[in-house]
Amino acid sequence: MQAVILSIGDELALGQTVDTNSAYLAAKLAGSGITTLYHQTLADDRALIADAINQAAQAADLVLISGGLGPTLDDLTRQALADALKADLHEDPASLEMIQTFFADRKIDMSDANRVQAMLPLGTTMIPNACGTAPGIQATLHHADLFVMPGVPQEMRAMLNASILPALKHHTATAPTILTTKINTFGMGESALGKILSDLMQRNQNPIVGTTVTAGIVSVRVRSESDNAHEAQARLDETVALIEQRLTPITFGRDDQTLASTLVTTLKNANLMVATAESCTGGLIGKLITDVPGSSSIYAGGWVTYTNQLKQSQLDVPQDLIQQHGVVSAPVVCAMALGALKQTNADIALSVSGIAGPTGGTPNKPVGTVWLGLAHKNTPNNTPNSKAILVRLPGDRQAIRNRAALSALQWLRLHLANHPPDNMSWVVETYPND
Ligand code: AMP
Ligand code: MG
Repeated sequence: MQAVILSIGDELALGQTVDTNSAYLAAKLAGSGITTLYHQTLADDRALIADAINQAAQAADLVLISGGLGPTLDDLTRQALADALKADLHEDPASLEMIQTFFADRKIDMSDANRVQAMLPLGTTMIPNACGTAPGIQATLHHADLFVMPGVPQEMRAMLNASILPALKHHTATAPTILTTKINTFGMGESALGKILSDLMQRNQNPIVGTTVTAGIVSVRVRSESDNAHEAQARLDETVALIEQRLTPITFGRDDQTLASTLVTTLKNANLMVATAESCTGGLIGKLITDVPGSSSIYAGGWVTYTNQLKQSQLDVPQDLIQQHGVVSAPVVCAMALGALKQTNADIALSVSGIAGPTGGTPNKPVGTVWLGLAHKNTPNNTPNSKAILVRLPGDRQAIRNRAALSALQWLRLHLANHPPDNMSWVVETYPND
């Protein structure tokens, strides 16, 4: 079964509101084995919408439409649907009663404008709306099933799940199983990673493999399809295992797992506490760690020491060390991490000092030059040890700060698993250089 998704609203076409409905609908359909041919975003224009409905009903077996069912003059989807169906609008008693009940339940006077929402093209059926005033509409055109839903995302979702997906069950019972997994990595650019997976990424394969980059994280998407659910799962598992094997150790998790969430789990299992001492990232490392629920058992806290003076007073970084090596240097980030370790009960401290730009770069230390430090207590005598890595990061200020924080988290992950930091391709120097 193939579907088309239409999103309707001036605010969507103008870019004032991001169309989140289409993404939600397409993902839900994929989960039911239905392929979406295309999405279209349309302004509130009666003729345009009628045309699009006609085209969609010829291209697909299923057309999902959201938006434009409201009570105001700019909501024209019901009229456009009537035009496409060549049917007149009539007042549907069941719809009117549903709308009246909605207002009565809330002890609000119903305005005359809301009566419009009870108008349906002849030959169509009302779909109840559990959380709003606009009922949906079900119709058939050119042998395609059409479902019109309200635009408000919460109402659209409720209607899809309560009424529409169940109505499609007879279509989807024989649909193939489509399974997807995302493998998340940090430490290598998308094209380098693409080379490693090039045989798996050829088009027209099953499972099909692709990559996406979001805020520095490169994710590998795997989509497996089969009429046999077990086979779909087996193929997915096999391909995922192969990818993870090739990309170890820079893979850190699947689907919604973040670098920080995996790290928090690892630290919990190892019973280790971390502290942070940040300069150019302004607390972002601490933020990413504390985004994870339950991080209090592994995170002691940290400092944002932006000035040299605060690095000295809070973290005991010797002034002459800063003068001799510069504040963006291996000895300084080592001293910052050791200072943070000394003042907390943490087992490990991460530190960062770098040039996020856009100003402040020099020929020797251009924008994107970031030193990361890591200090840890050494068994058996508990003497603290420190080391540092230099990363050169591309992008603007925001991208550099984000990648610097993620590099620190990934480095700690690698450190705990005894992998060298230069598995991250932007590591250009390690200190002490052994
Ligand atoms: P409507 O059903 O056209 O009256 O839409 C009501 C509200 O829902 C709009 O003002 C938007 O804020 C929101 N909305 C409509 N369509 C979408 C969409 N495709 N994605 C996200 N929000 C939407
Ligand atoms: Mg609208």
